[in-house]
Parts: sequence; structure tokens; C-alpha cells
Amino acid sequence: MEDHVTPRRVVIIGGGFAGLFAARALRHAPVAVTLVDRRAHHLFQPLLYQCASGILSEGQIAQPLRAVLRRHQNVRCLLADATDVDVKARLVHARRPEGGSVAVPYDDLIVAVGMRQSYFGHDEFAAHAPGMKTLDDALEIRRRLYRAFEMAESATDAEERRQWLTFALVGGGPTGVELAGQIREIAGHTLDREFRTIDPLQARVLLFEGSDKVLGPFGEPLAGRAARTLRDLGVELRLGTRVTDLDAHGLTVKDNEGTTTRYAARTVLWTAGVEAPPIAAALARATGATQDRAGRIAVEPDLTVPGHPEIRVVGDVMGLHRLPGLAEVAMQTGAYAGRAVRHSVEGRAKKPKPFKYIDLGSAAYICRGRAVVKAGPLHLSGVSGWLAWLFIHIAFLTGFRSRLGAVLSWSVSFASGARRERAFTLPDTANPPERPHGAPAVSPQR
Ligand SMILES: Cc1cc2nc3c(=O)[nH]c(=O)nc-3n(C[C@H](O)[C@H](O)[C@H](O)COP(=O)(O)OP(=O)(O)OC[C@H]3O[C@@H](n4cnc5c(N)ncnc54)[C@H](O)[C@@H]3O)c2cc1C
Repeated sequence: MEDHVTPRRVVIIGGGFAGLFAARALRHAPVAVTLVDRRAHHLFQPLLYQCASGILSEGQIAQPLRAVLRRHQNVRCLLADATDVDVKARLVHARRPEGGSVAVPYDDLIVAVGMRQSYFGHDEFAAHAPGMKTLDDALEIRRRLYRAFEMAESATDAEERRQWLTFALVGGGPTGVELAGQIREIAGHTLDREFRTIDPLQARVLLFEGSDKVLGPFGEPLAGRAARTLRDLGVELRLGTRVTDLDAHGLTVKDNEGTTTRYAARTVLWTAGVEAPPIAAALARATGATQDRAGRIAVEPDLTVPGHPEIRVVGDVMGLHRLPGLAEVAMQTGAYAGRAVRHSVEGRAKKPKPFKYIDLGSAAYICRGRAVVKAGPLHLSGVSGWLAWLFIHIAFLTGFRSRLGAVLSWSVSFASGARRERAFTLPDTANPPERPHGAPAVSPQR
């Protein structure tokens, strides 16, 4: 008679880099994996700004999780937003997108929910200054960038036109730097000879950063070189400034001397901070785990939650040794957690060695032919940094088709400045959304 054994149930919350690498490490393990994500796709966040600025399409940076994991027979994908964890009953509670909830049982839980944008207690800023964390954010930023030039073209008032041609970026980390470079490139190359009233080159790009340098974690000399490249491109750096107010018409900042300045800008983009999503606080409440100021969950050296060897936290939301929020950290911690579960299921008695991060470096793209890369003692900038950046991103994009598509799009964009993905949508003001789809725009006959 056959021996039917119920496979151990592993639930992974989050299909970003960490969750995906955990699932991949479990591919040949005798376990039943449920991957719960509030989105149906795996998103390559490092290239979000290229989607926002029109170089790459949504499909080139986001792959359906089901497609990515189609050969993983032991993985089931579930589109749902995890809201709570019942550690006694070992259940993950999740909300389905169109209503209703599910409770997913687990024997092992891997939490890989990443971080979301933080407005440092000013959530009201979000309506006027989208962040850059999701595909929706990238498409919203694309809409705002290209809409601004259109609005400037049709403005009849010089002051209004000036405001539409002023772009303010909050946060001088890699994303802020990348976006600033992209906007200057769009103004200088992509939109060349397309407008009749405005000169897109007149677009002002202001970059606000609280510390005294952009790309601070890259250290000198790379941070200094990045600042010089940005200034050469025409980006105005406002270092040592903090945003105190923000609305649809601009922002107010305070500098280190206490001077307050108001800048009129119709496009403000926010890349300044991150915080853990609410499920992290729910997990901390349920397990008694501690969280740092941004909400990251403190874990043991083997990435388990203290007192809960069945729960592992990986990726950006994990607080261990102040590791940076990098894709490589997420991949390595995810793979480590997956392997740890596999070894335990396979009955390997030895306790896993503590997680050790292998630092492969970090990179930031500034503009065509200019990027900075830091990998151990290796510091690259300018063209060599850009070539290294290209190689890294081609190597890590998920799927051969995405890689090929991205290489083609980059070739077009780098050779000519053209961007193929500039389409954006606007609300149809003539037909308000209350009208049922397909209903006539005029009142029916009396
Ligand atoms: C714009 C940008 C540029 C970046 N550039 C670089 C770079 O150049 N190099 C680099 O190394 N790193 C870069 N990073 C950082 C890198 O992308 C992250 O470190 C990495 O994505 C973290 O992976 P993760 O799996 O922990 O989280 P994420 O990739 O954020 O994935 C988290 C997943 O969890 C899901 N989720 C969240 N909450 C729930 C919930 N309650 N229920 C269900 N699912 C949930 C989300 O939908 C998402 O799919 C960048 C990040 C951004 C935003």
C-alpha cells in the first residue's frame, strides 16, 4: 500500500526578489508552497524609473508570478493581501482583491513583504507627490512627467508655464538621482523638436536632499562625481534641505540654517524614505518581535523570528545587522530561508550556519553613458560605471524575453534619445466615471 504523506506546507508572503528566491530554493523539496502576493506580478524595482520615464514597458519590468514559477510544480500562487498571522493556529489571514478573505495554513512561514514609501508622518503629501515603489507609481509618474510638458505647451500664462516646466524631486538616493537625470534627458533629447510653443530644454529639475550629499552610501569619491555629473546635466541640487510643506502647486523647504523657501512646481516626486507595510506590525504583535524605527522586524542570525523557529523574515523588511535595502540582500536572504526549510524537511539534523551576506556592491544610473558602481574596493563612474551597470541589469532581469526586450529598448534609447513607452492615460473629463461602461453620454429620450 502506498504511503500518503501530507507534504509540509510552506507559505511565502511576497513575490518580490526575496519571496521568489525562497520559492526557487524549495523547487525540488517535498513541500507544498503557497505564495501569497497582493499583486499578480514579480516587479523588478531597480528599473521602475526606466518604466516611469518611458524607456521600458510595464511588461519588461513586471512578469506574472505564475509564469515565472510555472515549472515549480509545488508552488501555488494566490492573489491576496495578507493582513494578519495567527501564530497559535498557524494561519495567514488574507483579503482577496474583490472582497472576501482566505485563511492559509502553514507549517513554515517566510515573510518577504518588502517596504513601502514613507512620507515621514505626512501621508497627505502622497496625493501631490507620488513615490516610486510599485508599477502603479511608475505609470503615475510617467503620466505626470509627460503631462507637464503638454500642459506647459497649452498654458497661456507665463507663470503657469514656468510651474509646469519645474520638476522637484525629494530624496537624493539612487532613485531620486536616476529620475533627475532622466527628466533632463527627456527635456534635452527625447522631446527635441516636438513642441512649438515651449522649449523643453528650459525645464528646471530641482533635487532636494536632507544630507549634504547625493548618493551618500556610495561614499567619496563616487558621491562627489555623481553630484558633478548631475550639475553638468543641469540638475539643481538643494542639499541640506527638508520638506516642510507640499501641495499641488509646489513645496516649501527648510535648510540647515533654518531658512524657509517656497518653490513653485507642478510636478513633485517623492523618493525619500521607506517604512514597513502594516502586515509587519501585525506579525510583530503576534510574535512579540521587535521592530526598528522604519518597522523592520528583528530576526535571529538564522533569519527566524525570536521564539518562532517556524517563521522567517527576509528581504527589505528584515532587520539584521543593518543590512541595506538592496535586491542582492533580498535574493540571498530569500534563498537562505528556502534552503533552511528544505534542509529541515529533508531531516538534516545540523542547525544552519548563521546567514552571511556576500556584498556584491551597488550601482546607480545617472544618464546615458554615466553611472556609478561600487563593489568592494572597485569604484567605477562615467562610461566604465555605465557598462558595468548594463551588464548587472541584463544579468539580473527575470526571464530571457525581458532581457532581450530591454536590450533592444536600451539600444534605441541610448543611440537616439528616443523613448518608445511614452503613452499615458488621462481621466475622461467629458464622460465622468459614474456613467456605466457603454452607456450613452447624453440623457436618454424622455
Ligand atoms: C525605485 C527603486 C530602485 C531600486 N534600485 C535598486 C538597485 O539599483 N539595486 C539594488 O540592489 N536594489 C535596488 N532597489 C531595492 C530593491 O528593489 C529591493 O531591495 C528589493 O526589491 C527588495 O526585495 P523584497 O523581496 O524584500 O521586497 P519587494 O521587492 O518590495 O517585494 C515585496 C512583495 O511583497 C508583496 N507584499 C507586500 N505586502 C504584502 C501583503 N500584505 N500581502 C501580500 N503581499 C504583499 C508586494 O506586492 C511585493 O511583491 C530599488 C528599489 C526601488 C523601489
